[in-house]
Amino acid sequence: MLHSRKSNEKDEQKYIFKPDTSSTPIFGSTESDVVLPRTTLRKEPMDPKIAYQLVSDEIMHDGNPRYNLCTFVQTYMEPEAQKIMADTMATNAIDKAEYPQTTEVEKRCVDIIADLWNAPKDQEYMGTSTVGSSEACMLGGMAMKFRWRKRAEALGIDTKTRKPNLIISAGYQVVWEKFCVYWDVEMRTVPMTDMNNLTMDAKAAVALCDEYTIGIVPIMGITYTGTFDDVVALDKEVENYNKTAKLSVPIHVDAASGGLYLPFVNPELLWDFRLKNVVSISTSGHKYGLVYPGIGWVLWRDKEYLPEELIFKVAYLGAFEPTFQINFSRSGSQIWAQYYNFVRWGFEGYKAVHERTRDVGLFLTQGLREMGDFEILNEGKNIPIVCWKLKDGLDKKWDLYDLSDRMRYNGWQVAAYPLPDNFSNVSIMRIVVRADQSMEQMSLVLKDMKAAMDDLDKAHIVQHKPQLDENGKRIPAGFTH
Ligand SMILES: *Cc1c(COP(=O)(O)O)cnc(C)c1O
Repeated sequence: MLHSRKSNEKDEQKYIFKPDTSSTPIFGSTESDVVLPRTTLRKEPMDPKIAYQLVSDEIMHDGNPRYNLCTFVQTYMEPEAQKIMADTMATNAIDKAEYPQTTEVEKRCVDIIADLWNAPKDQEYMGTSTVGSSEACMLGGMAMKFRWRKRAEALGIDTKTRKPNLIISAGYQVVWEKFCVYWDVEMRTVPMTDMNNLTMDAKAAVALCDEYTIGIVPIMGITYTGTFDDVVALDKEVENYNKTAKLSVPIHVDAASGGLYLPFVNPELLWDFRLKNVVSISTSGHKYGLVYPGIGWVLWRDKEYLPEELIFKVAYLGAFEPTFQINFSRSGSQIWAQYYNFVRWGFEGYKAVHERTRDVGLFLTQGLREMGDFEILNEGKNIPIVCWKLKDGLDKKWDLYDLSDRMRYNGWQVAAYPLPDNFSNVSIMRIVVRADQSMEQMSLVLKDMKAAMDDLDKAHIVQHKPQLDENGKRIPAGFTH
């Protein structure tokens, strides 16, 4: 977190060092008699057993991640996977010479993903692991920007005084806004126009293109609702546009959640490298790739789409392995964990987990429908992301934000938040069903939600005043992504 603090707010640490003996109980120790350091280090070290207890007690206040119904990110891995991760925690993924097998395993993962995404056999795909989809999207965006600039300059287009642009639906994930701010690119958003089909309109997207367009980004699993952009329609529109365009426009698919789900559950759906104008795809290994947070992947269909000047070969690590990454050192354990999952489950294993997760999503949808007050916006058939709103015209003294608060009483975290343009006056709730949520757990969610709604119906006073921003729009509690 980006933390700031006024320098005069120092905590007073009154700590008198009085050594404990080996028989002193942890909670009888002098260390447990004072608060833990806030702004300055303690002078003396502490026994590891005591330190472990006191620090791990702090973790308690984060709650149990498995109660988190809003996150896309994996919250359970098998003990064997955890062991692989612990065994490889000390490896550094960037150190290609020191850890050649980590490098080899990363390559195998790229090959496996290229196969899942139908990379054309007659082209030379390239790919890399990243920290997550955010870094993967940044790399995809940078490749498009650099490639655009080179081609634009060759045609004599003024690239110095005018900004390039990127086209994406208004339901973009925040990383694309970051990309545009950090790399000085104009973001052109396509508003969603149909409440029953919250996706990017392909014609409207292509209508925004000009010779300054670095690319168009459809999303396979829009963060807000889980819906898919129609990449087939977009590919067709782009194909037409490119026939007469001064500068052709490529497609980068942000498949953060769909990329490692669809190849197993719906391999017939066309969205990947089978579509001619899709030049790069990014995904999160830690979403439906089922690895703990800290891994993503990005692939280009051919080396033509990854400008050479972005690739670095560093000599001081002892090997001339090419790299394209924003950060340098990071642990190799997430790469190993991804490979473990691939080895452990194979195609049928992933398919079984994902299909069962989808069944749980459909069960959730069914339960929500039976409650009668909700309109389902995504029932979770395509990908197990279920979202809903309160039906119009209900006479309720409470809203989804109050329901979200009430669900916390039972530990569940389920976010309520407003939709993007043009529907920012509509608030919805979303549950991202994950592999570790069984039918049993979801039945408990439904039971607790029903009880929470009955409680709210009976309550005389609504829990809190809604927080509004300067435009009078409701500020969501909790996070949405
Ligand atoms: C989650 C998500 C991201 C960001 O991914 P991280 O892996 O969390 O960095 C980007 N785009 C979409 C559509 C997402 O759902």
